[in-house]
Amino acid sequence: MTEVQRRRAVLSEVGGLPVRRALPQRELRTVGAWCFVDHFGPVGPAQAGAMQVGPHPHIGLQTVTWLLAGEVLHTDSLGSEQLIRPGQLNLMTAGHGIAHAESARPGPAMHGVQFWVALPEGPHAGPPAFAHLVDLPQADVGGATATVLLGPFAGERSPAEVHTPIVGVDLDLRGGRVVLPLEPGWEHAVLVLEGAVALDGASPLAVGELGHLAPGAEELVVSTQGPARALLLGGAPFGPAPVMWWNFVAPSRAEVVAAQRAWNAGDLERFGAVATDLERIPAPALLPGWG
Ligand code: MN
Repeated sequence: MTEVQRRRAVLSEVGGLPVRRALPQRELRTVGAWCFVDHFGPVGPAQAGAMQVGPHPHIGLQTVTWLLAGEVLHTDSLGSEQLIRPGQLNLMTAGHGIAHAESARPGPAMHGVQFWVALPEGPHAGPPAFAHLVDLPQADVGGATATVLLGPFAGERSPAEVHTPIVGVDLDLRGGRVVLPLEPGWEHAVLVLEGAVALDGASPLAVGELGHLAPGAEELVVSTQGPARALLLGGAPFGPAPVMWWNFVAPSRAEVVAAQRAWNAGDLERFGAVATDLERIPAPALLPGWG
């Protein structure tokens, strides 16, 4: 049996909103093409509107937004303006360059996840795109409702456009034991969002903990004492490791340097303009020796 490696997310805070960064970690940079995972909340009305992120650029990745509670307005340089609600998926493909802003709406609660998916060489320099998906396929896997966010799972397949062999599933666990089918050639991770979740009979993972499985497993036994919520992420191991710096993901450092310069020079041809009142976020200075 493939052994589950336990890893703890790094906790930070934005305006009273707790953020747990599950990826990247020093010893786990990617899970398939998943290269960044921030789990934020849950919080009540005082912090529900705390996330106000002004225009900033991305290259070489797809951003995936998934909410369990609250509402976030997405605005991007393609002219998209989309309010996202729980159960819906926002998928923004940066390709060669895009800019966007994210504004959480005030409300009774906020809880969600923001992911990045690294694009492989080729699509990493392709055209930007935005999709809002409201009708995601669901599979009942005996004791859990699995909503398929990206890729194939349990006979279903998400309509979201992807560029590598990848899977992302929201697991709404009702308690008891569930057997998840896995793709044996892929690596996988389970991130706990609510409750406690035991993998393959090990002691339960708590919120903010991630269990990682190297390729080789054909299934994963997930057990919970009561209701719980978790994410299953997986994919073909992504290599070579991409360069990740600020909001940029690229096969080479030179492409990151070019993107930093273009954004700070106000290159509208590359990144476009975002229709929002929020303030534009400049890129930090490049690291010494990077050019
Ligand atoms: Mn962003």
